[in-house]
Amino acid sequence: MTARRLDGAEIARQIREDLRERIAELGAKGTRPGLGVILVGDDPASASYVRSKTRSCEELGLFHETRHLGLGSTTAEVLAAVEHYNRRVEVHGILVQLPLPRQVDTQRVLDAVRPEKDVDGLHPENVGRLVQKRPRFVPCTPAGIMEMLRRSGVEVTGRRAVVLGRSEIVGKPMALLLMHADATVTVCHSKTADLPSVTREADILVAAIGRAGLVRAEHVRPGAVVVDVGMNRVTDPVAARDLLPPSRLAEFEKKGHALVGDVHAPSVQEVAGALTPVPGGVGPLTIAQLIANTVRAAGAA
Ligand code: NAP
Repeated sequence: MTARRLDGAEIARQIREDLRERIAELGAKGTRPGLGVILVGDDPASASYVRSKTRSCEELGLFHETRHLGLGSTTAEVLAAVEHYNRRVEVHGILVQLPLPRQVDTQRVLDAVRPEKDVDGLHPENVGRLVQKRPRFVPCTPAGIMEMLRRSGVEVTGRRAVVLGRSEIVGKPMALLLMHADATVTVCHSKTADLPSVTREADILVAAIGRAGLVRAEHVRPGAVVVDVGMNRVTDPVAARDLLPPSRLAEFEKKGHALVGDVHAPSVQEVAGALTPVPGGVGPLTIAQLIANTVRAAGAA
């Protein structure tokens, strides 16, 4: 079997196109949705994610602004940037790009974002609302995955879903959304015993662990839908030859690095019924969902 490719990039494009009408409606009423970004430090991956997000804002005519703070910033300085955006009327959504440097109290920063502008869905009020199945803003990656499953015709009701990873930003909200969509959900983490026997139960398997290629054919039930959230940079040529399909090896040789998921695509592809690629899967969906949340925040303002 060769898995069907779940084309996240194409679905993200459709989500963005669908937003244009709503953005025009808001524009006619004098509202231009706006995103305020806080980027701290000089991590190239974070800077690249922020660029992709602001590029999407531009493509759709959203206002955006980025406050770029130094690597040595204090919690108070990051809080001041949050307060600035909390007050600005042209900013409807606030994105604090994670991770923040170690000396910054991330929880305090996320707690300081006004819940009505918390388009990443990480404020405790929004987390609580999601738990109670009356969401305001849902974290963008799991929300984007649910939208992809819906648009791809993947049945969720009554299916067995296994979520690998229990982070606040992906694993936990993903499990809640799948449960609310009437799947029977199991959550795995680094202490789960005999991982393959649990993940093989899944009709829908979501891998969000940050371990390059950990999910192999032995973890996957034949025909399962596999969603690969992982974004891992490989630089070791031996690992690259194992993890990448032959078609991507030239890219690796040229750049000296490549992006891979948590799923060992070459082997899982032969077992799964459907699989998201990396890159071009969950990443673009996350960005599209951020824009959707910002437009919704503007509509509610
Ligand atoms: P995280 O906060 O580091 O959490 C990782 C989770 O995986 C933890 O719950 C951890 O368990 C679990 N885990 C780690 N090693 C494991 C193992 N060997 N077996 C089973 N579980 C294991 O990561 P995250 O922020 O959720 O991100 C996960 C991955 O998704 C990363 O590669 C990240 O770059 C990527 N990501 C992609 C997007 C996107 O837009 N595509 C968005 C967000 C994140 P414990 O809780 O026991 O430690």
